[in-house]
Amino acid sequence: MAESPITPTIPLDRPGKHHGHLRLPHSRDDSAWGSVMIPMSVIRGGEGPTALFIGGNHGDEYEGPIALHDLAISLEPEAISGRVIILPTLNQPAFLAGRRTSPVDGGNLNRSFPGRADGTVTQKIAHFVATHLIGQADIVLDFHSGGRTLDFLPFAASHVLADKAQEAACAAAAEAFGAPWTMKMLEIDNVGMLDTEAEAQGKVFVTTELRGGGTATAESAGIAKRGARNLLHHAGILPGTPTPGPGRRLEMPEDCFLFAQQEGLCEFLVDLGEPVRAGEPVARIWRANHSGKTPMICEAPRDGILAARHYPGLVQIGDCLAVVAVELG
Ligand code: CA
Repeated sequence: MAESPITPTIPLDRPGKHHGHLRLPHSRDDSAWGSVMIPMSVIRGGEGPTALFIGGNHGDEYEGPIALHDLAISLEPEAISGRVIILPTLNQPAFLAGRRTSPVDGGNLNRSFPGRADGTVTQKIAHFVATHLIGQADIVLDFHSGGRTLDFLPFAASHVLADKAQEAACAAAAEAFGAPWTMKMLEIDNVGMLDTEAEAQGKVFVTTELRGGGTATAESAGIAKRGARNLLHHAGILPGTPTPGPGRRLEMPEDCFLFAQQEGLCEFLVDLGEPVRAGEPVARIWRANHSGKTPMICEAPRDGILAARHYPGLVQIGDCLAVVAVELG
């Protein structure tokens, strides 16, 4: 197996606060011996666990990057027991382009794990995280939001896992994050995700979806900032206890997804957080090129709460239009 070409410009294990980069050599037309420079901060206080906090795995999701830039300047080593490794914008080329995927190689970082040391830029980033960072961590947080094409109820999430003790530890951490909602999440396609890699390495892993639409609100960024600190309390890295959220829990059954059956102009009839019944219209899709045509009705696949929706007004056939999640008592 090839060695990773990525080098941190700061020490990962020294006490104090260090700001630098992961430097990934990237030879290209505008920079023959150039690099991809991925911002990184490492804050180490006394003895204790290690938290690995990641944002910008997808480049058009902003709550994580905002919360982690804020944490990197506001968290002091004297205040903590342990270490926090912060990567606010892990897929830096995608982040700079305002895109979900990398403009360098088209790579979707969250479908590239465990990556390759001798692969594409995106595969090299995944490989370094999988082989050099996750293993050092006791708790891993990967911030997500809906990006430009989805909008979610704000939630922290964990997955159903084969190891029930690990599943319980992940669920407890997701709860401790203190978002308005806590989700037991079902992935459409979990192969290649950072989530799957961290869970396979036995880590306590938390992810989020905190709104979307290619921006962040004051409220959603606030949820992200509070959640990051709450996880540090939960892990024992910060003293004290997490500020609890409202404790509302959701799960995603297998029939929670609604996909667009036609392209066109999408009119939502239900907003995020509202209850729906199976068979009830959630949205209608108008023909883009004709007036006088009856719109296609898109019905709720099951009873539940609208937990996610397509964001831009135009949809394509096959787009995820909505997620109807179920509130747990
Ligand atoms: Ca995402």
